[in-house]
Amino acid sequence: MYHSDNIFAKILRKEIPCDPIFENDDVLAFKDISPVAPVHVLVIPKSAYVSMDDFSAKASDQEIVTLMRAVGEVARQLGLEKDGYRVISNVGEFGGQQVPHLHFHILGGEKIGSLRPGAEDTHA
Ligand code: 5GP
Repeated sequence: MYHSDNIFAKILRKEIPCDPIFENDDVLAFKDISPVAPVHVLVIPKSAYVSMDDFSAKASDQEIVTLMRAVGEVARQLGLEKDGYRVISNVGEFGGQQVPHLHFHILGGEKIGSLRPGAEDTHA
């Protein structure tokens, strides 16, 4: 169940400010207020979806294509494609999701740590 009192819904309604870096009819991207990497941008759909679970179940094919293309476009606009970057979408309590409006984190600008700290050099 989507609740329109979440912080990203307020950003979309311009009730609170953000630092936008990309916008089209369907998508907004803006800097994370508490960055965990030199580049930390959030990409959100303008439509009301709680999470990747909600989106993947209910969004149209066109909405999915539009959002995925925007994530890549934002990363290229930020110049991240050469060195690489990480895309994360946290889902629900176990995923660590804090804001219940679908968002993708784009993290870059340095080597992003392993998902399994200490295991960086162990893959063949
Ligand atoms: P989650 O934990 O839900 O995946 O990520 C939520 C993200 O939203 C966090 O990284 C947090 O720093 C960011 N955030 C929370 N409130 C605001 C805000 O008011 N403005 C911006 N730009 N980012 C926010």
